Parts: sequence; structure tokens; C-alpha cells
Amino acid sequence: MPSEEAFTKLFYLAAAVLFIFGLKGLTHPRTAVRGNLLGSAGMLLAIVVTLMDNRIVSFQVIIAGVVVGGLVGVLMAYRAPMTAMPQVVAIFNGFGGGASALAVGAAFEEALKGEWIEEITIQFTASAAVAGLIGALSLTGSAIAFFKLQGLMREQPVLLPGRNVINSLLALSSVGLCTWLILDPSSSLPFWSMAGVAALLGIMLVIPIGGADMPVVISLLNAYSGLAAAGHGWVLNNSVLIIAGSLVGAAGFILTVLMCRAMNRSLTNVMFAGVGAVVASEAESEDIYAGRVKSTSAEEVAMLMDGARRVVIVPGYGMAVAQAQYAVQDLSGVLESKGVEVEFGIHPVAGRMPGHMNVLLAEASIPYERLKDIDQINSAFRQTDLALIIGANDVVNPLAREDDPSIPIAGMPILNVDQARSVVIIKRSLGPGFAGIANPLFAADNSMMLFGDAKQMIIDLVVALKSS
Ligand code: NDP
Repeated sequence: MPSEEAFTKLFYLAAAVLFIFGLKGLTHPRTAVRGNLLGSAGMLLAIVVTLMDNRIVSFQVIIAGVVVGGLVGVLMAYRAPMTAMPQVVAIFNGFGGGASALAVGAAFEEALKGEWIEEITIQFTASAAVAGLIGALSLTGSAIAFFKLQGLMREQPVLLPGRNVINSLLALSSVGLCTWLILDPSSSLPFWSMAGVAALLGIMLVIPIGGADMPVVISLLNAYSGLAAAGHGWVLNNSVLIIAGSLVGAAGFILTVLMCRAMNRSLTNVMFAGVGAVVASEAESEDIYAGRVKSTSAEEVAMLMDGARRVVIVPGYGMAVAQAQYAVQDLSGVLESKGVEVEFGIHPVAGRMPGHMNVLLAEASIPYERLKDIDQINSAFRQTDLALIIGANDVVNPLAREDDPSIPIAGMPILNVDQARSVVIIKRSLGPGFAGIANPLFAADNSMMLFGDAKQMIIDLVVALKSS
């Protein structure tokens, strides 16, 4: 008869397999819901098996935690708008890292009292040090990311003088305290001091980063909280925690790299360059725009659309701000009813989080097949009668093609909307996007600006199209 421990390991293995299939499912919108369910089933299985462990001391505390945590989670999930998803992910993520640091600290205190393990091994102290350090750092770093995105603190980079020296000192002190903990695990003082220093480092590392770079930071901190959970797993000798934490860590790192690549920026540039701190001066913008920008009206654009055979819609951050996705779906329906072919050009970093546009358009039931990524759509702009840009700016800025390192988006692949016969750009002003630079597309010969809020302008367009 296999032992209870063997059964536990077997179920943990099954949970890990479910996590992997869950992640696989999440790689495509069509299988994402199934993937999510598989991952959740894996988590439920892991929790149930853990609850059957005879070393559990208080079910009351666990039940209270599940009820309070569950309530907060459900409320946040229902109440947070789609545009607030990055900060919701950030704060959940930070809580995960913080929980790992605290749980590891508690395990260490118990180990010191000799209550729970007989001997404090090097595996125990080293994993506790790593989990404590990374967990505390991801808690405070994620909290700053949350505050910035929620508008509770300045979104712009806060560039403190001497920040690199301060950060190096904080990093060195936390590594020193980790070493002390590993060499002399007779007191918890180095652990809690190290966690405190790491928490400060988390704040210092994230405040110099601009609000729009937060998704990259959140993804990186997500990877960190996964590593903290894996470290926690090593402390407790719990295989499912090690596997789940490593999966979160790897997924977070892969996403971070993909986002940096899509912006043609290095992670070092995202973390330390303070992009977003400098905004184009009026004189610089005037140079590009002076006398060349043509503004248009919904009626005029409706007439252009009426005569078009193919329209490509390019959404950006402004569509998310205006919550214009349902109006966009209406527009696409009206155009199709008039025999116009409509496609959507999706840039990988349009908006403020990976897949931002895909999520919003899917919410408005726009068929996934209509959404074309940059490689699929770029060659088709020459055969496009009208490119309609809705609240996008940097992702269609031709300056990205310049080989000039002073341009923050230089080298970033862009959607070649300027190759379409006509280009209509909906935004409220000539103001810059996240990168803070002017956009020559707005002054191009084939471009027209439809100034106004994205949602209102699309509604006006639909009305004008219906009455034409
Ligand atoms: P941008 O930030 O370049 O531009 C958005 C534009 O939307 C602004 O110029 C603004 O102009 C307009 N806008 C804002 N509100 C409204 C509204 N209510 N109605 C109409 N227009 C509005 O957005 P993009 O999507 O083009 O580019 C994303 C940027 O974010 C890139 O630089 C990318 O590198 C960066 N980024 C993206 C990440 C991601 O994961 N997606 C991660 C990190 C960074 P106005 O004020 O005149 O209306």
C-alpha cells in the first residue's frame, strides 16, 4: 500500500501537469478559457491535497483567510474596469510576493524554536533568504506600480539624485544580510532586516520608471513573485509550490523579454532610462506640424468610408481610455453592411499592457480572425483605402524608422499606416503619446485629424454613415 506521502506527491504531480496544460491553453484566445479552467483545477487540487496534510494546525485561520481573500478577490474582479487590469495584476502579484516573504519568515521563526524541523540546513536558509529578498522587493515594487497606474502617485519617472549609488548600497546590504543569515542562522534578525532593505529597494527601483512602462515592470515583478514562491517551496520541501513558482517565474520572464523586443528596447533601458520623463517641447512639435495638419469632420470621413473597399482600423491606448470598443464594433458592422472589408491592425505594445487591444476588442465580440498582427497587416496597407487610427500614436509614428538614438522609440517596429491611400487619426489634440515625441504622421499629405474623444467620434461616424 503506497504511503500517504506518495499519494500527496502523485496528486501534486497531477496538479503540476494541469498547470502546464493550463499555460498551453492560455497561448491562444480560442483555448484561453479552457486553459484558465485547467490551471484553476490544478490549483484547487493542490489546495485540497495540502489541506489534508496532518501538520495543519488551525483550520479556522485558513477558512478565515479563504473567506476574506475570496471576498476581496471577487469584489476586485467584478468592480475593476478592463483599463485597470494592469494595476489589479500588479497588486495581486505584490501580495503573492509579500505572502511568500512572510510565510518564509514565519517558517524560519518556527524552525528557530525547533518546533517544526529538527535542523536548519543550508537549503533552508538559502531558500529562505532568496524568497524573503525577492518576495519583499516584489511586494513594494508592485505597490508602487499599482499607485502609479491608479493615479495615486505621479506617473512620470521620479529621478532622485544619486539613485544609482543608493540602489547599489541597498542591493549590497541585502546580499550581505542574506550571507549573514546563511552563515549564522541562529537569529531571525538578519532575515527581517534583509526583508526591510529589499522592500526599500523595491520602491527605489520602481519610482524612476514611467507609468506606461509599468506593464513591463509588472511582468518582471510577476516573475520575481514566482521565484519567491519557488524559494518558499524549497523551504517547505513542497514540490507543487516549487513547480508552480518556477512556471510563474519563467512565464513572467518570457513575457518581459517579448514586451521589450516589441518595443525594440532593452530591459536595462526600461528599468533605468527614465523614458517618459521628457516630453517634446512646443517648439519641436511646431517644427513638424506648422501649417501642415488638416482637420476633418465625421461627415467627411463617412463619405471617404462610403467609397472605400478596404478599411483597416488601428486601435491604441486612446481607445482604451475612451472605452470606445463597443462603438468600434458598431462602426465595423455598419461598414461591413455597406460591403466594405474591415480588418484590425494590432501592434503588440498598443495600449498599456500586452494584449490590451485584443482583450478590449474581444470584449466587444469582434471576431478574433479580424485582428491581424503587425507582420500580417503591414504588407497590406498599400492595398488599403483608409486607415483609421483610434487613439494610437507611438505605434504608428514614422520617427521609429529613424536611426537616431535620441528618439526613444527608434527601431521599434510600427504599423505602416502611412502607406494607406488615406489616413484618419482620431485623438483629442496633437499631444504626444507615451514616448513624449511629436508624430510626423499627423502632418503627412494623406493624413487628416478627427479631433475629439474616440468614443464620441466613432458614434458620430456611425450616425453619419447610417444617414449617408
Ligand atoms: P500612445 O501612448 O502612443 O498614444 C495614445 C494617444 O491616445 C495619445 O496621444 C492621446 O492623444 C490619445 N488619447 C488619449 N485619450 C483619448 C481619448 N479619450 N480619445 C481619443 N484619443 C485619446 O499609445 P499607443 O497605443 O500608440 O502606444 C503605446 C505606447 O505605450 C508605446 O510607446 C509602447 O511602447 C508603450 N508601452 C506599451 C506597453 C504594452 O504592453 N502595451 C507596455 C509598456 C509601454 P490625445 O491626448 O491628444 O487625445
